Amino acid sequence: MAFGLYYARSHISMTNISSNIASRLLRQRLPRVCVAVIGKNPAEMVTKAEDFARDNPFIEFRLDYLPQPVALFPKLKGFVEYHPHVNMIATCRRANNGGRFKGSVAAQVDILVKAAAAGCQLIDIELESATQLKAASWEKLRKTGAAIILSFHDFRSTKNLDKTYQKMCTYPADFIKVVSTAQELHDNVEMMKFLERRSDERPVIGLCMGEQGLISRLLSMRAGSAFTFGAASAGEETGPGQILARTLRETFRIDQLDVSTRVYGVVGDPISHSLSPVIMNTGFRRENFNAVYLALHAKTIQDLMACVRDIPIHGLSVTLPYKEAILKYLDRTDQMTTKIGACNTVIRSQDGKLYGFNTDVAGVIRPLEQRMALLGAKILVLGAGGAARAAVFGLKDRGADVYIMNRTAGTGQKLAKQARAKFIQRKQLSKLTFDCIINATSVGMDGDLGKEKEQPLLTEKELNTKFIFEMVYTPAETKFVKMAQAKGIPVIFGSEMFVHQGARQFEIWTGKPAPVDEMQRVVHHALAQRGQAGKK
Ligand code: NAP
Repeated sequence: MAFGLYYARSHISMTNISSNIASRLLRQRLPRVCVAVIGKNPAEMVTKAEDFARDNPFIEFRLDYLPQPVALFPKLKGFVEYHPHVNMIATCRRANNGGRFKGSVAAQVDILVKAAAAGCQLIDIELESATQLKAASWEKLRKTGAAIILSFHDFRSTKNLDKTYQKMCTYPADFIKVVSTAQELHDNVEMMKFLERRSDERPVIGLCMGEQGLISRLLSMRAGSAFTFGAASAGEETGPGQILARTLRETFRIDQLDVSTRVYGVVGDPISHSLSPVIMNTGFRRENFNAVYLALHAKTIQDLMACVRDIPIHGLSVTLPYKEAILKYLDRTDQMTTKIGACNTVIRSQDGKLYGFNTDVAGVIRPLEQRMALLGAKILVLGAGGAARAAVFGLKDRGADVYIMNRTAGTGQKLAKQARAKFIQRKQLSKLTFDCIINATSVGMDGDLGKEKEQPLLTEKELNTKFIFEMVYTPAETKFVKMAQAKGIPVIFGSEMFVHQGARQFEIWTGKPAPVDEMQRVVHHALAQRGQAGKK
């Protein structure tokens, strides 16, 4: 008989009940984020732990990263003396189960027992090892007095959560940790529903790994997870999709998330490059709005819509490739959005209805209005895709004299007809001057800057304009921008549009004015860190 079953049947004892109470008390005391600390040697590991001890006093020592885990313990004792308030988990995951420890299960138990003696209040052992443990080994672990986390990792999928949990409950653990891999956004919902069902029974930790598991890494505690994990620094993630502990606290304000925290997100495919989480979370923090904003990598719109319903999500920023596709899922769109035929902002009303807006319009109009009167202004829009449509309809609405030029003439002509703008051919350009030329094509996006063969959108001679507006914002300094700067023409950068479209979303969602300057500052900082900020 497996020890787990044996234990469950014969030891539903006072020890188990009191340990359950003790682990619940411990759970209440634990911070929300446990920082996973790795290191090549004990000194490095302890130095990293020192760095976190004050701001994040909950540390997982990944002993399996050390060539000799026991060599850590003398230093750990010293660490405990100076930092008695720090909660520590000892984990020595075996190589077969996603870790690096190559020793036997008996050696793993031995290390965990010593870790507890060195001061770790929690020890983690994976289900695969647990199934091999004899009663005597369990007794050894329990006698340490440390709380036992029994963990299971599914590196491929999110399935059989309850079945796994029930199996794990047959072992004498204090915490049950179930970690799966999200293949789609809705897997997060499965994880959170699982936590809601089980966390009243006993202390549970649950989250989904992978880029698509972000929702559960942040929101699982609302569903009942005892805590979550964060990485110590970039490149030191101990699980796929793990977020920096610092980002969890500072950007996502995880310590303040509660049941009334509203959830917003930017959806697209791909999405990891998006700066929207940076500006929106900054805005929410600045205005003290109880909300969190996530990057949602949806591979299908059906997956996204299921999450919007089940989480529930209060609002969305929508980006490629879903700006048009989302329209049919919305209950209503405003007139401008209907005309444009693309939606980049969704708000969910209290009755669950979804309303769509297009704030790219504000992203174009607001920066221009700060520089010129739009009534009668002569503006050339290059392109006829979604962003160009927002610019053209928005500008027409403000009374501008709008010209359109597009690579595919038919698309440009169609837009000109719909918006009552003028379609022009390139050869007409030399005879025209403009107040602003807007690049609403994707030319210049993500590094075609270096491609010498790439044809510039316009030649220097064709830039007869007072301003240029470059919608592309990564990189900031496209050929179009450089050409204008060489001619001394002032540039309106894509990052300014990005901030203003986001600011308008913020207003729609919160009913408050957006902290535009602060949003601009963080975008500039983030772009500078990527080496992509423009010089004005
Ligand atoms: P889209 O719907 O795919 O439209 C792309 C447009 O670019 C089309 O008019 C297309 O012409 C034209 N185009 C593509 N490659 C071209 C080339 N080699 N030469 C000439 N024209 C070319 O894209 P979108 O959503 O409108 O986005 C356009 C740009 O705006 C993107 O760079 C996007 O990042 C940017 N944008 C920025 C913001 C911001 O906040 N800063 C917001 C929205 C969009 P055809 O009709 O001939 O294919």
